[in-house]
Amino acid sequence: MWWDQAFENIGYKNAFQVKILPEDVDPMDVRYNVIQWVHRATRGWSYGSSVIDPRTGEILKGHVTLGSLRVRQDYLIALGLTSPFKNTNTDTSTMKEMALARIRQLAAHEVGQTLGIAHNFAASVNNRASVMDYPHPLVELKKGEIDLSNAYAENIGEWDKFVIAYGDYLPDSETEKLQSLSAQAQSKGLQYVSDLDARSKSSAHSTGHLWDNGENAAVELTRVLQVRAKALADFGVNSIPFGTPMSELEEVLVPIYNFIAFRLKQRQS
Ligand SMILES: [Zn+2]
Repeated sequence: MWWDQAFENIGYKNAFQVKILPEDVDPMDVRYNVIQWVHRATRGWSYGSSVIDPRTGEILKGHVTLGSLRVRQDYLIALGLTSPFKNTNTDTSTMKEMALARIRQLAAHEVGQTLGIAHNFAASVNNRASVMDYPHPLVELKKGEIDLSNAYAENIGEWDKFVIAYGDYLPDSETEKLQSLSAQAQSKGLQYVSDLDARSKSSAHSTGHLWDNGENAAVELTRVLQVRAKALADFGVNSIPFGTPMSELEEVLVPIYNFIAFRLKQRQS
């Protein structure tokens, strides 16, 4: 439902709604936009795609596929970061909350793709200005302890509101309005770096890193290394629930050991 914030921002009421699909509807029916969950044997991509009228470019149907296994992956990351099972503790609600926050953010991202909105990997330098970035969890050290409460954004960003507003005008006849909107976005310091300028080594852009936070990648790397060091220092028998086979420690360790190389373990589309 986050995208409704962007439509409300330009005066549309209830323009964006999400409902449970009626039981007698085929999810492939082109008259329905669909968000579906797929259970996979391994982690995999989530997708947001559209059926587009080739004559007009009009989006006829949006179709989002979310992989359910990602929840498990994010939960393992949260366990490995915090090693919560100290002193017979069994409460993992904050770790589950982080995994759910991630899925909410991902659902908004994939819905954004079905709306025709491109990635913006520079949103992380603008205080998480877009759900169309690839988000690294913003895990913080507070009083020497790892804090997950701010891991993922809880709302649509400034950039997302801008692109929906931009799409409300016609490129041929309303160029002045479009230029004025762009000037406003620029004056707020909002930046746009998409796949072509961010993905490959040869097109690496200083503000277009995937899976990062903050304004400066080098500063953020130093900060994330401190988080990783704390997580690894605490890591051990308290990282998995009592009664779990010790061999399963490995599954929790891998994402934390690779916490600075996030692309190894996260997949998004
Ligand atoms: Zn994407």
